[in-house]
Amino acid sequence: MYEEARETDPKKYIAGAAGDWELVVGLEVHAQISSKSKLFSGASAEYGGEPNDHVSIVDAAMPGMLPVINEFCVRQAVKTGLGLKAQINLRSVFDRKNYFYPDLPQGYQISQFKDPIVGPGTVLLDMKDGARVEIGIERLHMEQDAGKSIHDQHPSKTYVDLNRSGVALMEIVSLPDIRSSEEARAYVTKLRSILRYLGTCDGNMEEGSMRADVNVSVRRPGDPFGTRCEIKNVNSIRYVGQAIEYEARRQIDILEEGGSIDQETRLFDPKSGKTRAMRSKEEAHDYRYFPDPDLLPLEFTREWVDEIAAELPELPDEKRARLMSDYGLSAYDAGVLVADQASSAYFEKVATGRNAKLAVNWVMGDLSASANEKNVGLDQVGISPDQLGGLIDLIEDKTISGKIAKDVFEILLAEGGDPRTIVEDKGLKQVTDTGAIEAAVDEVIAANPDKVAEVREKPRMAGWFVGQVMKATGGKANPKAVNDILKAKLGL
Ligand code: ADP
Ligand code: MG
Repeated sequence: MYEEARETDPKKYIAGAAGDWELVVGLEVHAQISSKSKLFSGASAEYGGEPNDHVSIVDAAMPGMLPVINEFCVRQAVKTGLGLKAQINLRSVFDRKNYFYPDLPQGYQISQFKDPIVGPGTVLLDMKDGARVEIGIERLHMEQDAGKSIHDQHPSKTYVDLNRSGVALMEIVSLPDIRSSEEARAYVTKLRSILRYLGTCDGNMEEGSMRADVNVSVRRPGDPFGTRCEIKNVNSIRYVGQAIEYEARRQIDILEEGGSIDQETRLFDPKSGKTRAMRSKEEAHDYRYFPDPDLLPLEFTREWVDEIAAELPELPDEKRARLMSDYGLSAYDAGVLVADQASSAYFEKVATGRNAKLAVNWVMGDLSASANEKNVGLDQVGISPDQLGGLIDLIEDKTISGKIAKDVFEILLAEGGDPRTIVEDKGLKQVTDTGAIEAAVDEVIAANPDKVAEVREKPRMAGWFVGQVMKATGGKANPKAVNDILKAKLGL
């Protein structure tokens, strides 16, 4: 089934002691569906709360309880499938995945096995070097989350919190198309951005709303796929990258020493940056999947899907293309902006009806630098689109020069306020009054007869005069006017 998987750019090979290796990665991402209530009960799906506050008799698996499908969650899964340009299956089946765990009172998880709600799709990655990489999605299925065992509250007891029991998850399974840790990080980032645009998952990895099982194998270029290890429940994008780097190296070392890889489940420890064995496939559960007799197959019509499709928002790929054509943004800048919905909305508010080039320069330049410094989104820097737009208007109508604009930007950052008022109050207006500039030019010429003689020999020296005049006018003189007047007066 994985035979058509993509080839690796030889630049991405990992050097071993004896020749190159190719990395192969496939991800299973669990994303919590944004929904008020759980997948099969009316209990709250909200994060947090006191332990066992959000538990109905269905989630506690009381005898005789019956699950009832939450239509909104189905809608969210379909929406996600459409956002992944995937096949939507009009008929899917819920299965019981049987295993024992203290925080799983039913004794099984309701999931989808053979017939998932969403089939093959794709996620496009824009890499830093400009490459576009297409990662295949194998499937998306719906399932319930389990509860949580709490081991650290009592010396000899384990507590069980069922707040998460029954919360709706989407498991999104990629093909083994990923060929480097950067691609894996870009994939999770892009997937999260698509889910957030769609409003189907909040993507908060710290709260566990999104986590990834990372499957890693290595092979000699051109060889069939190697045996994989699965690193469970990785909960940050950075850790996904680190886990892959470590795991690839571990496998290469074993293979180069003549050993072989055991297919096993591993855990990533962020403190040490290492993965360690959790259980081997031999001990793996036989889940005895079978269709849940409490639930009918899930069926809906093509018209219902079309209705949902009509409500889809503009997604990152389409928005990126539009920003490039509407505002002349580079592919890279557009990619950076659309990754975060609030940032691209901010940019559009600034750029609409204004000089797009100036808007791009200010948003991707000074504003982005401040955002990076503060480690926040563009909309969180503390300068509103109206303020930045106002500043750009002042440059555009030549009230201030680009240089003074930088000072005004700093004032806006530190004190806030209205850019035009700041410029007026602080007397920062650009001097375009040629009389005033002429007077300043005359003064500089009169005070520097030696330099005047020099500049007639070496016209490159003119820059020095421009600098002096700008200094004399507090940086407020219109640079073009200064140049013109100087040239005329010096006879250059
Ligand atoms: P399972 O359900 O047992 O975990 P699957 O065949 O459904 O197994 O694969 C799960 C994930 O493992 C998928 O994301 C897939 O892309 C990935 N995968 C499969 N084979 C390999 C391999 N040889 N190397 C890396 N990843 C792989
Ligand atoms: Mg798996």
